Amino acid sequence: KKYVYFFGKGRAEGDASMKQLLGGKGANLAEMVRLGVPVPPGFTISTEVCKYYYDHGKTYPEELKDQVLKAMKELEEATGKVFGSPENPLLVSVRSGAAVSMPGMMDTILNLGLNDETVEGMIKSTNNPRFCYDAYRRFMQMFGDVVLNIKHEYFEEELNKVKTEKGVKLDTDLDADDLKKVVERYKEVYKKAGHKFPQDPWDQLWKAIDAVFGSWMNERAIKYRELNGIKEGSLLGTAVNVVAMVFGNMGEDSGTGVAFTRDPNTGEKKYYGEYLPNAQGEDVVAGIRTPYPLTKLEEMMPDVYKQLLDIFEKLEKHYRDMQDIEFTIERGKLYLLQTRTGKRTPFAAVRIAVDMAEEGLITKEEAIMRVSPDHIETLLHPYFEPETKKNASLLAKGIAASPGAATGIIVFDPAEAERMVKEENKQVILVRPETSPEDIAGMAAAEGILTSTGGKTSHAAVVARGMGKPCIVGCEAIEVDEKAGVIRIDGKEIKEFSWLSIDGTTGEVFDGKLATVKPQGLEGPLAKILQWADEIRKLGVRTNADTPRDATVARNFGAEGIGLCRTEHMFFEEERIPVVRQMIVAKTKEQREIALEKLLPMQQEDFVGLFKAMEGYPVTIRLLDPPLHEFLPKEDEDIKALAEEMGLSYEELKATVEELHEFNPMMGHRGCRLSITYPEIAVMQTKAIIGAAIQVLKEEGKTVIPEIMIPLVGHINELKYLKKIITETADKMIEEAGVDLQYKVGTMIEIPRAALTADEIATEAEFFSFGTNDLTQMTFGFSRDDYGKFVKEYIEKGILEVDPFQKLDRTGVGQLVKMGTEKGRSTRPNLKVGICGEHGGEPSSIEFCHITGLDYVSCSPYRVPVARLAAAQAAI
Ligand code: ADP
Ligand code: MG
Ligand code: MG
Repeated sequence: KKYVYFFGKGRAEGDASMKQLLGGKGANLAEMVRLGVPVPPGFTISTEVCKYYYDHGKTYPEELKDQVLKAMKELEEATGKVFGSPENPLLVSVRSGAAVSMPGMMDTILNLGLNDETVEGMIKSTNNPRFCYDAYRRFMQMFGDVVLNIKHEYFEEELNKVKTEKGVKLDTDLDADDLKKVVERYKEVYKKAGHKFPQDPWDQLWKAIDAVFGSWMNERAIKYRELNGIKEGSLLGTAVNVVAMVFGNMGEDSGTGVAFTRDPNTGEKKYYGEYLPNAQGEDVVAGIRTPYPLTKLEEMMPDVYKQLLDIFEKLEKHYRDMQDIEFTIERGKLYLLQTRTGKRTPFAAVRIAVDMAEEGLITKEEAIMRVSPDHIETLLHPYFEPETKKNASLLAKGIAASPGAATGIIVFDPAEAERMVKEENKQVILVRPETSPEDIAGMAAAEGILTSTGGKTSHAAVVARGMGKPCIVGCEAIEVDEKAGVIRIDGKEIKEFSWLSIDGTTGEVFDGKLATVKPQGLEGPLAKILQWADEIRKLGVRTNADTPRDATVARNFGAEGIGLCRTEHMFFEEERIPVVRQMIVAKTKEQREIALEKLLPMQQEDFVGLFKAMEGYPVTIRLLDPPLHEFLPKEDEDIKALAEEMGLSYEELKATVEELHEFNPMMGHRGCRLSITYPEIAVMQTKAIIGAAIQVLKEEGKTVIPEIMIPLVGHINELKYLKKIITETADKMIEEAGVDLQYKVGTMIEIPRAALTADEIATEAEFFSFGTNDLTQMTFGFSRDDYGKFVKEYIEKGILEVDPFQKLDRTGVGQLVKMGTEKGRSTRPNLKVGICGEHGGEPSSIEFCHITGLDYVSCSPYRVPVARLAAAQAAI
C-alpha cells in the first residue's frame, strides 16, 4: 500500500483533491508544484498512517520504512544534498497537517538533520558558521521541546546565561563560537532532563514523525476540534510533511512572511501580509519580533515582490478563494511553504463572496454557500454607542485584529477566564502579553481578546478572527503585570477584574464599561448577498415579534410578516401584570370581565402598532397561552397588593392562588384550555385583534392581514369550539364596521396528537404553525424547564448528538412535522404551514423545513437575515 507521496522538481504524486489523505498542507504543496509555483521539495506521509498508528498501539505499517527511505533518496536527488552527510547535509522540516486546517494546534520541527558532524558540513557549503550554529541550537531547542517535552524555559535560561557572560543583550550579538557554546549547554539540558540528544539524523526523523502523529491527540488539538465542531473520527488524522529546509535567516536578502490575497478583516481586494527580513518562519507566527507590512518587501526586493504578486494571483484564480500563504526567501530566491483557504472575519467572508461573484470568479450560489449563516448574526451585533465612545477614556491603541466591540472585566489567566464565564456568568476580556494554542478555551469564553505584542497574523489575531471575536493585538502601550495583578498604561494602573472595553474594528482600548449598540440595517455586501439569497430561497421568512419595535427591526432585516406574536408577552410590563393577575385569579365571570375590559385597550393598541409595522404582510397572533404559574403572584407582598386592588382579603386571594397551583403547569391549564374554560378571554382577544385591524384599515388605509392562532390544540373539537366563538365575534365587528377585512383562524401544531390527527384538524384550521419548542418537549417528554439538568450529560455520553431544543430532531419530532404537513394538506391542499419554534432560526432546522415543504419559517428578529441565507443554502 502506498503511504508516502513525493513532491518537487515539477512532479507531484498528490494533488489538491487529496486533502483527506495528504492533509490540507500536503495536498496543496503538491498542487503548487503542479502549478509550477516554487516549493521546496519534500514528501507527505499520509493520514492513513496516523490512523494506523493509533489503531495499532503506536506502531507503523511494515512498508512505511522502505517508502520513507525511497522518498528521502528522491529528495536527496532533487536537492543535490544528502541526509546526514558530513559534507553537504540535507536538512528538513517535519510538519503536521490535517485535512482541516488547525493552525498552530499540532507540532512542527525545523532544521532536522543537524548534529555535530552535519553542522560542520553545512558550514562548508554555506560558509557561514554563525548561521549554522544558530540553526543547530534552534533545532535542539525545538526538538527537545516538541519531542521530549523538555521545557522551553530551560533552553532560554542557558541562552541568556551565555548572553550575560558575554555582556550582550540580543541573540544577534552572539557569534559562532558563542552559539557553539550554547549547543554544548543544550546537550547538558537534555542530560538534566534524563535524555540524550540524538546525533543520528534518522533517529531524529523517526522521533519527530512520532511526535507529529502524537500531537494529533494532544489536549489543545482535541479542544480545537471540539470547539470547531470537528467530529472525532471524521478525519483519519494528521499527515506528516517532510520538506527540504529553505532559510529565511541567511541575511538581509533573505526573509520570511505570511500573506493573504485579500484583507482577512475587511475583505477588501488588496494584498495583505507581513514580512520579516532575516528570519525563520516561526518568528512571525510567534509574534516575538514585530514584522513589517508586506509592502516593505517591495522596497527591499522589488523583483521578488513582483514574483510573489503573480503567484498570489495564480493561486487565487486556481483555488477560486482567498488564500493564506507562507513564504520564505533564501538569498533572493522565493519559495512558497504553504497555501490554504484563508480564515476571515464574518464581515470579510461576505464581502469576499460578493466581490468574487461580481468578478465572475464564482457563481452567486457559490457566494451564498461560502457565508456561514451563523456568522451573519455577528455582523448585526454590537458596536460602541458613538456618544459614549466620544466621552470614553481612551487608554491605548493597538492593532485592530478582529472587528467588533466587546466589554468585560480584565482577566489574565485563560483558565480563570473560562471558569468565571462558565461558573459566575461573568463577561470577560482576556488580556495577555500574547496567546498560544493552549489558551483557546479561555479565548472562546471571553467577549474579546487584547494582547500587548504580536502582529495581525499572530496566534491571537488568527484565532480570534476565526471565532468572530473582537480582538486587539500588539498594544504595546500596555504592560501586563500578572504578578502584581495590574496592567500599566502610561504610568496609570488598572487592576485585574476591572472593566475594560475594546474596539476590534479600530484597535482602541477604553477604560470602563462602554454602552454598546446593535447595528440596525443591512447594508453593502451583506444586503447584496441576502438579496441573492431571496432570489433563490423557496421558504418564506417571518419573525417572532411581540412589540412594534421588534416588528420594525425584523422588517428592516427582511421579515415577510409575523409568524408568532405571543400575546402574553405584552402583559409582562409592570402596569399590566396586576391586571392579568386579576383575570387569572377571578372567581366569577363578572370579575374576569372587569379585568379583560381593562386589558382590551392595551392589547388593541399593541396590535395597531404591529399591523402598522407589518403593513401588507400577514401577522399571526396567538391567543393567550402561558402556563398560569408564569403570572401568578408568588410573594406575599404581591398577593396583598393585588387583594387590596381587587377588594378581597389577603386570605381569600391566597387561597385562590393556592388553588390555582399546578403540579405540572406546562401540561396544565394553559393554551386553548384557558379560552375553553373562559371563552371571554378569546372574545376579548379577538376584539382587540379585529378592532385594531379595522382601526388601521380605516384610519390609515393600510392593508392588514390578521391571522388568529390557537395554541396547544390536540383535538379537533377544541379548535371547532374556539373557532366558532372567534369567527362570530370577528364577523360581527367587520360587518358593523362595513370594511372588507380578510382574516384567518389557524392553529399551532405542538402536541403530538395534533400532528397525528392533522388531517382532521386541517378541516377547521386555515393554517398550521409548528410550535417545535412544545412539540419537542412533548415528543421527548423532556420538560423544557428541567432538561438542562441532564441534557449536557446526554450529549457527553453520546446519547443525544445535539440538544433537540436547539436543533430540530429530524428522526422523531421531524417525523411529526412531516406527517402533520402531509396529513394537513391531504384535506386542505392549500394549507399554509410554518414553524415558529426557536428552530425557525437555526440553519439545520431551516434546511429540514425546506425539505419538508413548509411555506415559511419564523424566528427572532436578529435571526431573520440568518434564516434568509440558510433558506437559500437549503435550496441550492
Ligand atoms: P503551522 O501549521 O503551525 O503553520 P508549518 O508546518 O506551516 O506549521 O510550519 C511552521 C513554520 O515553519 C512556518 O512559518 C513555515 O513557513 C516554517 N517552515 C516549515 N517548513 C519549512 C521549511 N522546509 N523551510 C523553511 N521554513 C519552513
Ligand atoms: Mg503553516
Ligand atoms: Mg407552545
